[in-house]
Amino acid sequence: MISLLEAQHVSRVFHSGLLNKGHTLAVDGVSLIINEEKPSITAIAGESGSGKTTLARLLLGVIQPTSGSILYRGQNLAAMDRPTRKEFRRQVQAIFQDPYEAYNPVYKVDQVLTTPVYKFGLVHSREEAHERIEQSLRMAGLRPEETLGRYPHQLSGGRRQRIMVARALLLNPRIILADEPVSMVDASLRATILESLVKLKREFGISFIYITHDLTTAYQVSQNIYVLYRGSVAEVGGVEKVIKQPKHPYTRLLVSSIPLPDPDKHWGGESEIESKASAPGAPQAELIGCKFSNRCPYVMAECQQTAPPLYLTDDNRAVACYLHKSGAQISGKEMAELLANL
Ligand code: SF4
Repeated sequence: MISLLEAQHVSRVFHSGLLNKGHTLAVDGVSLIINEEKPSITAIAGESGSGKTTLARLLLGVIQPTSGSILYRGQNLAAMDRPTRKEFRRQVQAIFQDPYEAYNPVYKVDQVLTTPVYKFGLVHSREEAHERIEQSLRMAGLRPEETLGRYPHQLSGGRRQRIMVARALLLNPRIILADEPVSMVDASLRATILESLVKLKREFGISFIYITHDLTTAYQVSQNIYVLYRGSVAEVGGVEKVIKQPKHPYTRLLVSSIPLPDPDKHWGGESEIESKASAPGAPQAELIGCKFSNRCPYVMAECQQTAPPLYLTDDNRAVACYLHKSGAQISGKEMAELLANL
């Protein structure tokens, strides 16, 4: 296996308040591997405050881990020389939730496409730049003649987000981190944008890390999923297993909250957990042991003493919960390797 991008037991603490006395453990010992030889779509899912966006920023090198490492082709991001960092910036691209933020309303959308082409010195002439931009727009499902020369406000939110996909594609990336890419897009356009990500993986071998709070779309596009709760991996594995037969009480809560056409029915029917649930994003109490213990209806004495490790419950799924301690213990790194090799 060639590890393209890897988080090795990464944690990130944010300090706040007078003399930095307050602290939040936003990401807590997460390991993840993207295998260069097997393009994949990996979802990172959780509620607001689960640490998923902080993990994405760590993987992009926008912020540094407090402990652990982010590796790009085996090299630590924190100790990379300039040429390798430039290559990393080209090969690891991002698409964010709000496409409008990337645009300057007084410039035509062409500007967001030409800037990266010249910045990375990818072309030798204006004609070559134009050709490359048109090709990327087509790959993102847009017609250049209906897109170029327009101002951002003249395009729908869906098209503006597709231009962000085209901008990422311009640089021939190996991996794209898509942080809630369809949460601000009309429901009717969501499926087509997500389909284009799947197509890009299939046809061009681009891997995606899909950050989302929405398990339905995670299920539609990804092979593997990491469910985060307050910065830690609660459940990780093949998406089919995790979403269709969730085992961690938190994942079961999330799955049970997925609305079905019949408003009286939920996927998992785990309504007893909801009744104990504190509001998502509630202040993080200093919990010893399992972070979910103050919401979990199955809490036992041992849950409040030591944080549960990951237990392998199936050939491609692990759960951080003592209810499943009959399974073999597995480290986050071993689990990341297992999934990356599937
Ligand atoms: Fe609930 Fe205990 Fe499992 Fe945590 S370890 S999810 S508290 S049963």
